This record gives sequence, C-alpha cells and structure tokens, in this order.
Amino acid sequence: MHKMLHPKADVERLYIPRKDGGRGLIDVETAFKTATIGLDHYLKHKEGQYPKQVLEHERSKAKNSISKNATKFKREVTMPEIENREDKSASENAKALKHVFKSRMKSMKEEKWKNKALHGQYPKILEKPHVDTVTTNKWLSSNLKGETEGLLVAAQDQAINTRNYQKVICGQPVESKCRLCSQHEETVDHIVSGCEVLAKTEYISRHNNAAAYLHRSIGKDHDIEITDKWYEHEPETVIHNKDNNITIMWDMPVNTERTITANRPDIIVKDSVNSTCKLIDMTVPSDRNIALKETEKKMQVQRPRTRNTENVAYENRSDPCGCWCAWYSEEGYGRKHQESIRKS
Ligand SMILES: [Zn+2]
Repeated sequence: MHKMLHPKADVERLYIPRKDGGRGLIDVETAFKTATIGLDHYLKHKEGQYPKQVLEHERSKAKNSISKNATKFKREVTMPEIENREDKSASENAKALKHVFKSRMKSMKEEKWKNKALHGQYPKILEKPHVDTVTTNKWLSSNLKGETEGLLVAAQDQAINTRNYQKVICGQPVESKCRLCSQHEETVDHIVSGCEVLAKTEYISRHNNAAAYLHRSIGKDHDIEITDKWYEHEPETVIHNKDNNITIMWDMPVNTERTITANRPDIIVKDSVNSTCKLIDMTVPSDRNIALKETEKKMQVQRPRTRNTENVAYENRSDPCGCWCAWYSEEGYGRKHQESIRKS
C-alpha cells in the first residue's frame, strides 16, 4: 500500500465496498473462508463417486480438513441455517451459502468500523436520513490518485495530525486550540469549515472555484463556447447561447421591490423560451452542518424568488455540494419527516 493508506487511517474500511464508503479491496481471509464453506457444501451435496471419495479423504484428516474448517468459519460469524433446495444444483446451493457468508462478514466489518470512537464518526454520519449515500460515495469510484484518495480518507477518519488529535488521541502535552484563530479545538472539521481566519480567504476561494466549475458545466450544457480547462475558467458576468435565448449570469444581484440582504445568487440561468429562471446558490459545508446549510440556502434563494417583480417563473434548485462531504438527500429527509408526522 505504497503511500495509499495513511498509517492512522481505518483498516476495516479498506475491505468495505466503495459504494458503501470503503475502498473496495478484496479481503484474502474472507475469500479463503468463503471458498472453503462453498466447497464443503458442494462436496456434501454433489451426487457421484468422486465428490464422496474426496469428502471421505478430507474427513479422515486430523486437522485443517475442509469440513472442519468450514464448521469453524461458520461459527465465527454465527451463520443462520441455510436450507438446501432440492430444485437447485449443488453448485447453485453452494453459491447461495457463500453469498450469505460474505454478507455476514461484510456487516461484521461495518459494525467494527462504526463502533470505533474516532474512525466511526464518518459511517455514523452516512446513516443519517438526510444523507444521499450513493452521491456521497461516488467520489471513491472516480479514479483519483491512490495517494490523494488515501489522504482524503484519512481526513474523513479524523486521523490527520491536528493539535486536537495530538492531545486527545496521542496524549501529547500540547495546546489543542487552532493555531490560526486560537478560539476553537483544532479538529479536521474545524480546519475544513469552521475557522474564522480561513473563512476570509481559503473558504471564499474554495467556494468561488467550485461555483466557477458549475458555471462552466452549465455553459457547456447550453453549447456556449468556454475554456477547455476548468481551472482556467473565469466566469463572465453575463453570457448567452448562440440563439440568444439562454442567459447565464454570474454573481448578479436580483432586483426586488423590497430591499433584501441575500439577493445575489451565485449563478442565474434565464431561459426565455420556457420563461423559467434558475437561481443557483451553492455552499461547501462540512458533513455535520449539511442539513443546516441546505435550509439556509433554500431560504436565501426563496426570498428573491418571492419578491421578484419580473414576470418569470422561478425554479428553486439549491444544492449544497463539496467534493468529499456527505450529500443532502431531500427524498430521505422528506421520508423521515412523513414518518414523524405519522407517529405523532
Ligand atoms: Zn481556527
């Protein structure tokens, strides 16, 4: 794992599938145990002379026989009794058994990951109803360099060498407050989105870069000529498509009949053919305040929407996003809300 696994990052997470937030490696131990259990089941249920002879030979071994090992491995994960279906072949039944064993092993690993005080914070956030896990974990399948991925995963595991980590986890006699603002504990979360000193510079430039990327993608969707490299893209205040019916505005204030403070969405896409106008405002929140930021942004966009005097229909589309934080799932949140109404 040359520089691809941070020394303090979580090891359990290595063997959890990427779609579930892990790094998708195949665990050799699990693969061996699964194959042994499958083979044992196959030999016991396959008709014919040769499987019976192999089974007999295996049973005569004092230790490390397939069937003894299979029983031992099944006991480790407390496997439920799987019925051998007569309408299926021996290999199909063995496959079904292997599948059950593999998923038991996977859930044991997930449980172990979640139960860790430090590394377990991230998987617990993923379980919250407002988190869209599919979109949140998409970045793990985007072919990033191994070293970059390793560092981001370590940050999610809270295993970066911050002052709080040095004091609380390593027990070193150091000051745990942030070395920039000296106000709050220096944790990964604080550095990523909570420091007042960084807010004035780094957070603004991060926000502007992400919004510029979005601006460029929207422009490309409407066949507007735009720079090839996203990092060279500097959004112009107003751009139009060839037919002049789509206007994209960057950081433009919306005129309203009454004065409101948040009247400057990041991007406005005006479609004169369908008489629609999209107000896009984005934020790069930390995993912990994603739901709060979503509500905040929606309220901000709502105000110019309801107070606008222009005769166009507006579509509210605010999306808090970041390359490595949890993504908001409106559907999940709505579902949870409906459940709570039903209960009360
Ligand atoms: Zn700070």
